[in-house]
Amino acid sequence: MSEATITKPRRILLLGGTGDSRALAERLAGRDDVEVISSLAGRTESPLPLPGALRIGGFGGVEALADFLTREGIDLLVDATHPYAARITDNAAAACQRAGTPRLLVERPPWEKRPGDNWISVPDTETAAKALPGLAKRVFLAVGRGELDAFAGLADIWFLVRTVDPPGDKLPLENCEVVLGRGPFEANGERALFLLHGIQALVTKNSGGEATYAKIAVARELGLPVVMIERPAHADGETAHSVEEALTWIEAQL
Ligand code: NAP
Repeated sequence: MSEATITKPRRILLLGGTGDSRALAERLAGRDDVEVISSLAGRTESPLPLPGALRIGGFGGVEALADFLTREGIDLLVDATHPYAARITDNAAAACQRAGTPRLLVERPPWEKRPGDNWISVPDTETAAKALPGLAKRVFLAVGRGELDAFAGLADIWFLVRTVDPPGDKLPLENCEVVLGRGPFEANGERALFLLHGIQALVTKNSGGEATYAKIAVARELGLPVVMIERPAHADGETAHSVEEALTWIEAQL
């Protein structure tokens, strides 16, 4: 038997919840030298199907994640979570250090301001909410469901909220309408949404990448202000800025 046939596949824990993590799982599928376990937090009711093994739900903190890495014989951890998911990134950094597991962070570069953009940069959702009175009466709130509380006190403003799953319980906003949608989003659809609802300002995170950029381009085209919530600080480390760079790093580790 040749050496290649007896080599065990390397096990990769892929922390996901983003288009990049999905793309990575798809690109690594079907290889016999790697075994990918994707991990989702469980925020979305019915995530799109993923190739390879899948686990869903929090690990239970740093120690539990370090135990998981050891118990499951994980050779590499690839953190392709969203740039605003800072807690899991910090936990993964600490857990990898404890377990001695090599770790890669996959993070798309943030969007850069272009001519014609009117961005108001704010550090967090609370400051974003404070920026709205006097700026606009009808606002597209393109932030996660869990971040709506910061906007609860703004009774004079009407909000358009987009969620992946129908919000089962009442939202904390007095005046709002919910549209359902899962990216990627195209400029024509985004423009129609802005015009139909008479949107006067957009609140968004700086996610980077193409899939959700159309709303930024449409705001620029319509001359509307964008309240841009900047990225939170998190543990750094070896970083890939694209799926291709991440695949190159993985290849080098095998
Ligand atoms: P977070 O604040 O960084 O993490 C909160 C807790 O959720 C973590 O401590 C961890 O629980 C668990 N967790 C997060 N991501 C996980 C993963 N991929 N697998 C297993 N457990 C995970 O994260 P968040 O901002 O709530 O985001 C949750 C998920 O949604 C992430 O996977 C992220 O990629 C995705 N997402 C987030 C945003 C955003 O704007 N924040 C946008 C798009 C997608 P334990 O401590 O118990 O291990």
